[in-house]
Amino acid sequence: MNEIGPPRLICPGPVPVSEAVQRAMAAPMPHHRTPDFAAIVAQVREDLRWLMQAEGEAVALTGTGTTGMEALVANFVDPGGLFVSVGGGKFAERWGQIARAYGVPSLELAVQWGRAAEPEALAALLDAHPEVKAVALTAVETSTGVVHPIEALCAVVRRRDDVVLLVDGITAVGVMPLPADRLGIDGLVVGSQKIFAVPPGLCAVAISPRAWRLQPSPGLPRFSLDLRREADKQATGQTAFSPAITLWMGMSAALEGLRGEGLEGLWARHALAGRAARAGGAALGLGCFAEVPCDAVTALLVPEGIDGQALVRAVRDRGVVISGGQDSLKGRIVRIGHLGSLTVEDVVMALGALGESLAQLGWGVDPRAGAAAASAIGAAR
Ligand SMILES: *Cc1c(COP(=O)(O)O)cnc(C)c1O
Repeated sequence: MNEIGPPRLICPGPVPVSEAVQRAMAAPMPHHRTPDFAAIVAQVREDLRWLMQAEGEAVALTGTGTTGMEALVANFVDPGGLFVSVGGGKFAERWGQIARAYGVPSLELAVQWGRAAEPEALAALLDAHPEVKAVALTAVETSTGVVHPIEALCAVVRRRDDVVLLVDGITAVGVMPLPADRLGIDGLVVGSQKIFAVPPGLCAVAISPRAWRLQPSPGLPRFSLDLRREADKQATGQTAFSPAITLWMGMSAALEGLRGEGLEGLWARHALAGRAARAGGAALGLGCFAEVPCDAVTALLVPEGIDGQALVRAVRDRGVVISGGQDSLKGRIVRIGHLGSLTVEDVVMALGALGESLAQLGWGVDPRAGAAAASAIGAAR
């Protein structure tokens, strides 16, 4: 296994920082009120619009993905309307938590963790509540490994032109098609430590013209998360406050790499890694937790009688960091990441460590079967 060197992060973010990004971030730091930095701002914003397939506007903000979600709520959710979010996992539930923190009346469409959301159920909820002004969705639910039927869910919301549609695309953008404009998404969030393989701390939102048109006034209180001010400033190559310069440098290098792969290439690479992870899990005799599994992370059920937290620790002892389950899933699943800088080779490494750890904890299966199955998928590409 990976006995020399630091542990390999094979989890759904943060993922290992790619070498190109490390180099860019280690370069001497430019001052941010200079033409050099303005060029980086312009390039990052343009590349983000390409990645998110959004003609409108992209704004990067200091903060993690949650900050991006909060910025969308604070800027585009009408405090006098009803906010609806679609549940199904820890991250989906965060939308409702943010709305409640801002005192916005909210309603969550309940979705059992591990299941995919049903567009018909969302349609029924929206029909019953004409006072809904904003809907928030999660494309890929990282806590369960589920990919939701995002096109159909967006289409349900888009039957109404007066509703703002916000989407958490943090582990979906770049992993699978999620064309913001074509799906009518008004606010789409991404975060630096996932597909970009940049350390955590920078997030970005794509904003549609409709979002600006429907922006409530007076809206919710906000200061450093005021997206109008930030967007106006970034249009000039500046930021409203001191930017996280190093992370912008990293994002610039990351986006250059993603551009080089192309959207189709990115989607194909993630689809292959997802297939390898699922095949490997099955070969170890582990069930897949997600009803409809995504290609960013694979959640595998921990076998009956095995302590899931001990399993994650045993894998870590082999130099590989995978994730356990969160909240109610603690100890019940393990999650292998395969997005961003992670490749099929990482999936093979994680499954190898997982197989050995399962054997150590008494699970009677060939410890090499998972890595072999994943490796075969990688070789057949
Ligand atoms: C990682 C992630 C987030 C954001 O988490 P932060 O820790 O704030 O970056 C939100 N939604 C999903 C689906 C995620 O995977």
